[in-house]
Amino acid sequence: MPKSSRAARTSGELKRQAELVELAHDAVLIRDLSGKIQYWNRGAESLYGWPKERAVGSITHELLHTSLPVALEEIKEALKSTGRWEGELRQTVRDGRTVVVASRWVVRGGGEDELEILEIDRDITAEKMANDELRRTNRELEQQIAERRVAEEEFRGLLESAPDAMVIVNLQGEIVMVNAQTEKQFGFKREELRGKSVDVLVPERFRRRHPGHREKYSKEPRVRPMGEGLELYGLRKDGVEFPVEISLSPLETERASLVISSIRDISERKRFEKELREKNLALEQADRAKDQFLASMSHELRTPLHTVIGFAELLAEELKGPLNDDQKRFANHIIRDSRHLLDLINDILDLSKIEAGGLELRREVFDGGSAIEEVLSSVRPLAQAKLIRIDTNIEPVSPLDADRLRFKQILYNLLSNAIKFTPVGGNVELDARFHDSETEISVRDSGIGIPEEAHESVFNKFHQVSSTTRGVREGTGLGLTITRALVEHHGGRIRLQSALGEGSCFTFTIPARRLEAAGAEAGTR
Ligand code: ADP
Repeated sequence: MPKSSRAARTSGELKRQAELVELAHDAVLIRDLSGKIQYWNRGAESLYGWPKERAVGSITHELLHTSLPVALEEIKEALKSTGRWEGELRQTVRDGRTVVVASRWVVRGGGEDELEILEIDRDITAEKMANDELRRTNRELEQQIAERRVAEEEFRGLLESAPDAMVIVNLQGEIVMVNAQTEKQFGFKREELRGKSVDVLVPERFRRRHPGHREKYSKEPRVRPMGEGLELYGLRKDGVEFPVEISLSPLETERASLVISSIRDISERKRFEKELREKNLALEQADRAKDQFLASMSHELRTPLHTVIGFAELLAEELKGPLNDDQKRFANHIIRDSRHLLDLINDILDLSKIEAGGLELRREVFDGGSAIEEVLSSVRPLAQAKLIRIDTNIEPVSPLDADRLRFKQILYNLLSNAIKFTPVGGNVELDARFHDSETEISVRDSGIGIPEEAHESVFNKFHQVSSTTRGVREGTGLGLTITRALVEHHGGRIRLQSALGEGSCFTFTIPARRLEAAGAEAGTR
């Protein structure tokens, strides 16, 4: 073949080859051993952003800031021994992005000096990123699974350690999970329950309505007690029922909507409540029996006592003939002690009536001033006997709405105590203030006083302040108990201010009833 035609064919082939290379998507470049670029195809232009004119003549690793996966020496070694090298490079393109390319290098050319490297770079950045992303997602998923496993274990641990039976059901009412306490409480093994309808734990008579309740709950799931106000029962495997308290809470999982019922066995509590009720009933009965006994005893005692007092008074008045001094003394002893006994019986009767709730007030509107005056006139002789002055300060006098008899009883108790516990020559002061909303009355004395620690107990039954009452003629120890009960029955309060040796001041209030209530009652009289 003539040389010229061979040359023409070769150049034609080369041209075609060059055209093919231009068409390739990959970057194709040819450079010498120092890296100086001699050829730069269109693929290289579009991958690296540099036009051919700028690239040819430049040094590749300067232009593209190449970072090699292995040492350059290692690459050179491979090129020398095998004539090729493959690996991943990181290069920086014109706009500053980093791309990852799969790079293949082939040594071309003849002599040592003319050695060239043909480099073909394929952009694998997207693949790389997708891979990285995949790896990251995988890692995250693995972590999530691990976390979930821990959470599940914690949940199980919690469930198992719960003091109540915990039964987890799905919206169809099938048991998904139960804890150890459920096994203990209901007598089933957990394998026997899993997948079964929760109805196996419910007595027959409640089962019919159960699906309805369940449906309603699934429409409005929230933490709440089940069947509020109803008596709920659980059913053991052996058929025995027991009272329970159930609280429901929704549990959303990825797989299903579930409901946790925590079921508490309240047999113990119920038994305790029943015992308490029975004990209370017994106590009430005993109390009533005591009141009845007291009432009838007081009645039985009072009648003969009136006879004793009556005849003793007759004797003392000497209407049936004179008595000698001793006989008179004896008759007066009988009178005094019998009256004391009568007081005591009256107080006991009063108190038992109050305590049995049998005290009925007969409230009316009356002139407070004149009621006070009546009480004062009955205690004045006692005061005069001890040279005690009684001052009064009643301002402004107005109608009082109370039980007139009981009001006088309250006042009498306080005034007679004041006189009783005030030494000869002392004084007693009565203050009454009538307000619109209440009447406030205080009885102050200059007597022996009451120590701070006894301020509350003086109102207790049969309580007498032993350190101070010595030498004072004994009372019944019931007066203040009755007084406070009467004040409180009127809706009022009583308070005490006193210190040992500095006199005492008892103050009580009687609140006015609301007008319409007073009017309505007056209308029915
Ligand atoms: P008693 O029948 O003994 O008076 P009370 O219930 O009326 O019973 O009073 C209880 C006790 O409170 C009295 O025994 C007395 O120790 C004390 N007490 C009551 N009023 C006074 C007072 N005005 N001054 C001092 N002590 C008083």
